[in-house]
Parts: sequence; structure tokens; C-alpha cells
Amino acid sequence: MTRLDTGIWEQLLTYLRANHRGINRVWFDQLRADDLEHGALTIHAADAGQLRYLQRYCSRAFTEGIQTITGRLLSVEFVCTDGNGSFAAAETEDASEAFKRRDRLVRLNGDYSFDNLVVGPCNRLAHAACVAVSEAPGHSYNPLFVHGTVGLGKTHMLQAICHALLDHTPGAEVVYLTCETFVNEFIEAVEAGKLQEFRYQYRQADLLIIDDIQFLAGRERTQEEFFHTFNTLHQYKKQIVLSADCSPSDIAGLEERLTSRFNWGLVARVDPPCLETRNAILRKKAKLRGLDLAPEVTMHIASQVSANTRELEGVLNRLHGLAALEKCEPNMELAKAALGQTLNAAPAQIQIADIAGIVARRFSLKISDLQGKKRSRSIALPRQMAMYLCRRLTRHSLEEVGAYFGGRDHTTVLHANRLIHERRQQDDDMHKQLLDIENRLNRKSVSE
Ligand code: ADP
Ligand code: MG
Repeated sequence: MTRLDTGIWEQLLTYLRANHRGINRVWFDQLRADDLEHGALTIHAADAGQLRYLQRYCSRAFTEGIQTITGRLLSVEFVCTDGNGSFAAAETEDASEAFKRRDRLVRLNGDYSFDNLVVGPCNRLAHAACVAVSEAPGHSYNPLFVHGTVGLGKTHMLQAICHALLDHTPGAEVVYLTCETFVNEFIEAVEAGKLQEFRYQYRQADLLIIDDIQFLAGRERTQEEFFHTFNTLHQYKKQIVLSADCSPSDIAGLEERLTSRFNWGLVARVDPPCLETRNAILRKKAKLRGLDLAPEVTMHIASQVSANTRELEGVLNRLHGLAALEKCEPNMELAKAALGQTLNAAPAQIQIADIAGIVARRFSLKISDLQGKKRSRSIALPRQMAMYLCRRLTRHSLEEVGAYFGGRDHTTVLHANRLIHERRQQDDDMHKQLLDIENRLNRKSVSE
């Protein structure tokens, strides 16, 4: 490890003396700092006492100082190592804390097993890949990237990998968490000067699963951290599994180096389930709840609810509730009543993301282009068409449509809607384009 440039170190000490007089100690002059690496400044304390003092009182001041001097978004870590490079006594009280925290990371839903997952044409590839990964982590597809819109069973599949691996290798270090948790814990660790501990939790995993990785979008600092975590795990052939609501290249605001890494292994898409699969899922869920449903009842529900599996479960819950209320077995009449409540409250079957996806593909753009800032005609017109289609085919408000397309104002959506509506009356090509997209979207929602 090379030393930090003495000029920077001197400036840091001067900054601290000038701006944080209260925390200064004479022994600061004897501290040793490593060269800046991976966005962090590592400072070595001489003993456990110094380490405790630095961690407790100095994180903020040192972080602020090094960021001001270098103009970079750096974090500061304090460590204390003995001659062999292992942690000194001061760290041991934190070690059990780290262990508890790691333990906490495996928060799994007991029902999300492979046994309870219905496999159909919509998720066959993703399922096979998840099973392969659970049987031989690090050896089949690394990383495995599963994507699809909401409610299609991604979380279920990811957690099933954890269950399966823990079943046949109980000692495996399995870390499952949502990307939101990763981001929040990272921010906390930076603020508390505990990056070392944070990194240890993730970089010692045999299997690291991060759900909804699209949450990294636009978070540069966390992306940088995750980039190094990814590299470390991948280098040691540890398994990484990620999920998102769209493919790696469609995640707006994700650095290219991450997008390319996410494409290294296998990218498996999960599609909305077809009628047979929905029926099978419903039967499985009913069985798990101990509900005895006639085949025509499940088939009827499955044929009426096509948006996603969460909605199917919603109907099942209502049906369960109604049956309990009426003190009778769930029958077709109650199923229709449960469906009535659901369909009235259900969002439109075609989702904004479906529209964005189909428009982007037709014009050879990425969804991120439609959500981006560029206003060139080749992007602005497809974006306006997508907004128009969202207003026509979904029940989302102007604000919601605007939010999806890069946080635009509702008046922009209104303008796009009017503009494309008028164009469509006058321009035959435009009309045909829109009609074709509408037909495709409608076919997709009917076939679901
Ligand atoms: P996502 O993470 O894709 O948004 P979830 O994994 O949270 O979706 O799934 C939503 C619900 O639907 C869960 O209760 C899950 O068990 C159920 N589900 C989705 N797909 C399937 C499937 N193929 N088989 C069984 N249950 C499913
Ligand atoms: Mg999920």
C-alpha cells in the first residue's frame, strides 16, 4: 500500500487545526495514511485507543477535510493493524456487531422456495439459471441478472436460490438484500466512518444477491462502491445475482462499467405469465393458504386478472376474506364478487414500462433515452408518442407519466398528448405507426 502524498496529508492536518480545533490531538502527526484508493482514505491509528477516539469523534471532520482539499467525494476509514496486518483489539468489539448485522441480512420469506414457484414459458430460463446457480454458485452464470416488470416473481426466485443453497450448504455465507438497503447502509457507513466493516459484510459473501438493482441509478458514490464489491466477489468466483425491472442497458443513470459487467454472465428476462401459468400459480397459492378452490373458479380468476401475480394474490385474499365472512366455501359467486372489487380498483393492464419498451425498440432507442434530457427530434418525437400512448392506454395521471419520462412536468405530458393527437389526424404514417404499436400492446395484454 503506497503512502498518501505528504502535501495532501499536511493540508488535511492544517485544515483540521483551522476548522475543527476541538478534536485535534498531538498524536495526529504520527498517523499514517494510505494513498487514495477506491474512493476512500484509509488512516492507520497506532493503537486501539487512538482508533476508538478517531472513530468516535473524528469521522465527519476528516471526511469534510479530505473532500474539501481534493474536491472529490471521498470517504475516510480508520483502521488499526498490528505488524501482521490483522486487526488489533479495538476492532474486536465491532466484530460481533458485524456478525449480528450479517445475520440480519438473510431475511427470507419462507414461502419463496423453488417448490412453491410455478414454472412456465414466462420464467423457464430464469428459473433454470437460478437453480443452476444455487447448485454450483460461482460456476455457472456469474453474474446472473434477472429482469422483468413488477410482480412477476423475481424476488421469489432470488430468495429461492438462498433457501436452496442454505439447505444443501448450511454454512454458506448468503447475503440477500434489496438495493435500497445497500444504498442506505452505505450512506450510514460513510457517515459513521465504518466503511471497512460495511465492505467486509458484502465482500466475504459466497453468494451476494441484490434485489431491484435499478435503485442504484443516479447514485454515483454507491455505484462506485458496488463496482468494487462486484469486482472483488467476481475475482474470487463468488456468486452474484441481481434483479431489476428492466435489462441492464435500460437502467437509466447506471455507469457503463456496471452495465457491461451486468451483461457478463446471463441476463434472463421474466415475462408476464400466460393463462395456464396464472392458473397454476393461483392453485399453488390457494393450497398454501389451505383454500380448496374448484378448477373452474381458479380458471375464471386467472382469465380475468392478467396484469401481474400480485393482483392474483389480491383476489385470492379477498376471496378468502369473503368466504370467511359468509361462513361458506369459496365458490364462483364469491370469486366474481372478489374480482369485481379487484377489477374496479385495478390499474390498467398495459404498463407505462411496456409502452416505453415498445416505442424505444421501434425507434432503436433505449428507454433511458426516452427518460433522458435530450430534445433532438429523433428522441423527442418518440418520447411524445410514448406519453400520448400512456394517456390513451393506461390510467396513469399526467404527473405519473411525466415522472416516468425523466421527471417531466405534467404540462409537458399534456402538450405531447395534444400534439400527437392532432398529428395523428393529419399524418397517415403517424397514425399507422401508432395503430401498430397499440395493436401490439393490446395483443400482449390479451395474451397474458
Ligand atoms: P417481483 O419481485 O418480480 O416484483 P415477487 O417475487 O414479489 O415479484 O412476486 C409477487 C408475488 O407473486 C409473490 O407472492 C410471489 O410468490 C408470486 N409469484 C410470482 N410469480 C410466481 C410464480 N411463477 N410462481 C409462484 N408464485 C409466483
Ligand atoms: Mg421484487
